[in-house]
This record gives sequence, C-alpha cells and structure tokens, in this order.
Amino acid sequence: MVKIGTSSLTLPDGSLDVGRIEHLADQALELTRAGRQLVLVTSGALGVGARRLGYSRRPQTIPEKQAAAAVGQGLLMQAYERAFLARQLVVGQVLLTREDVADRRRHLNSRNTLRKLLELGAIPVVNENDTVAVDEIRLGDNDTLSALVATLVDADLLIILSDVDGLYSGDPRRDPSARRFDVVPVVTPELEAIAGGAGTAFGTGGMMTKLQAAKIATAAGIPMFLTSGSQSHVLSAVLAGEAVGTLFLPKPRPLRARQRWLAFHLRPRGRILVDAGAAKALVENGKSLLPAGVVGVEGDFAEGDLVQVVDGSGRELARGLVNYSAQDLRRIQGSRTKDIAAILGRKDYDEVIHRDNLVISV
Ligand code: GLU
Repeated sequence: MVKIGTSSLTLPDGSLDVGRIEHLADQALELTRAGRQLVLVTSGALGVGARRLGYSRRPQTIPEKQAAAAVGQGLLMQAYERAFLARQLVVGQVLLTREDVADRRRHLNSRNTLRKLLELGAIPVVNENDTVAVDEIRLGDNDTLSALVATLVDADLLIILSDVDGLYSGDPRRDPSARRFDVVPVVTPELEAIAGGAGTAFGTGGMMTKLQAAKIATAAGIPMFLTSGSQSHVLSAVLAGEAVGTLFLPKPRPLRARQRWLAFHLRPRGRILVDAGAAKALVENGKSLLPAGVVGVEGDFAEGDLVQVVDGSGRELARGLVNYSAQDLRRIQGSRTKDIAAILGRKDYDEVIHRDNLVISV
C-alpha cells in the first residue's frame, strides 16, 4: 500500500511530473514481479486540474476545488494508465469519500472492489472523490485516506511518499540539529507537538496528518513507513529494510475490524466529558460508561452516533456508539442508573456507552 503526495507528483510549476509516474510504474513492476500486490493512493488531482484550468493559485472554495479535481483526476489517471500500460500493468481507478468508508455496507462494498481488483492482478489507484465531496463527507487529506484504505484491504505495510524523508525532531529545513527518527514505537502527544510545530505543511496534509495516518494504521496492526518520494527505487529500499525514513511500529494488540470501523471510519458527532472515576473505570478496568460519571455533554448527537469520551483536560480517552441522544444525556448526566427511568420516563439502557461499542484511544 503506497500513498504518493502532490509534491512528489508535480513539477514546481504545478504540472504533472510524468517522469515520477514513470518511475513509480517501474517500481510497481519490480514489486509485482516479486509477487507483491500493490494499492496506490494518489494525490495531485486538485493541483494538476487547477493548473489546467488556468488558476495561478490553489483553488479556495469547495466548487472551485471540485471543478479542479474533475479536470485533474482525468489527467492524473491518463498519466497512470499510460505509464503502467507500457509495463503491461493494469490500473483501476477507485474514488472514495468518507461516507464510503464510514457506512458499514458501503465500507464492505469498497473493500470487495479493492480486493477483487487485487485478485485480478490490477493495481487500484485510489483518490478521494473530490468532485462530489463537500465538507460533511470529505476526509480532506490523502494521508488519512491511505491509512483507512490500508485497513480496508488489510495491507501488510503502508508506505507514505512525501517531500520529507521521515519524521524529524525539528524542522530539517530550518534546524540543522534536527534528526530523523528511524523507528517510532508509539505516536505520543510529544511527537504530535513536534509535528504540529514543524511547519511542514506542503500539500494539504503536513506532518500532522501523517501522524494521524500512522495512528490509524498502527492501531490496525499495520506498520507505516514515511519517506521521500524523490529517492529512486525507494519502495524496494523500504522493503529491503534499509534505513531510508521513519518506521512506525504496529500496535501489539491491533483492533478488530468492527473496532477499527468504529474508531477511525466514523466521524464523531459530539463529546462526552467524564470525571476521573469514570475515566479510570473505562481505561483501566474495562467497564462501560454509566450516566453517573458524565459531567458534560457537547454537540447535538442522536442515539447510535459515534461520540468522543474526553477527560477534564479535553484529552480523548475513548470513542464509542452512544445509547442516548445529547438531549437525553444532558438530563441524566450525573444520575444513578436506577434513576434514569424516573427522569426520562423510560430506561432503554443502563449504560451511556456499552463496553462492546467502545474503543479506548489512549
Ligand atoms: N485528493 C487531493 C488531490 O488529489 C489531495 C489531498 C491530499 O493531498 O492530501 O488533489
């Protein structure tokens, strides 16, 4: 599973770097000859389309972006088709939105499509369906998309080709003492702080979305490798175990498919603040969330929606499917379970979030 970013695919003037795509096709050929299956997540549609439409800057509004993506996606696929065909490789375009991976049925459909393409020996070339994606349903960045797709196809490895060859302790362009991490066992809040401050915001993602992708992939048990797309034959180098970037290690106890879907594919609709007792019960003792531990409710969610569970400092402890709407939860927060019926006039569940529908984030 390989994600390639806009900056690795375009020339400084914004046009498509056909040489890069040719080289990617060379590498794809090497990998398929070695018996490996490959899924590509490609960016570049927006940038290339914008240039073709005569924009001198990156499009700003959603309709502008959608129009640019419509033009650019065709150009992008044309380049992939041509380069891969020359090496007798078949590519298949797959365009996804957040909804396609969030809705359980569409999630399974997308997975079937990707798996069938691989089974047929074709290389899926995936991008976000930017022409229809409005804010509500878009992921917005292909780093996150690539991690979600990696979990869909149960990839062995996610490689992100960027314009920096890994995660650094500072901004390598400004700070000569910044050093690259070769291996990251866990994405800690400290690393996120470094990434947030490093100013590597090229493309849409920057380093933050790379770390977000690493969290998703590694929680699903998939290692992620971050390196630069400008090195030649970099994919073989990564697979040979060479130290050419940053390896994010998979979690020893990966989430199961349903938990992954719940944790990463659904979009949270609100937040539930809990007290220290409830935090401990959830995180350390494997318990469900009860109304007594709820001290605040944010957002306007309905029963069955995904919500974040946060502690007093706003740190996310868990996420899960909630049994009560925000409105009802505001009325029963802090109450004992046995009082729910008296307050609401009914008691559908003892728990605010049942353990089976909860995934711990910390
Ligand atoms: N889907 C966008 C495009 O093809 C790229 C998003 C990203 O770079 O993360 O232009």
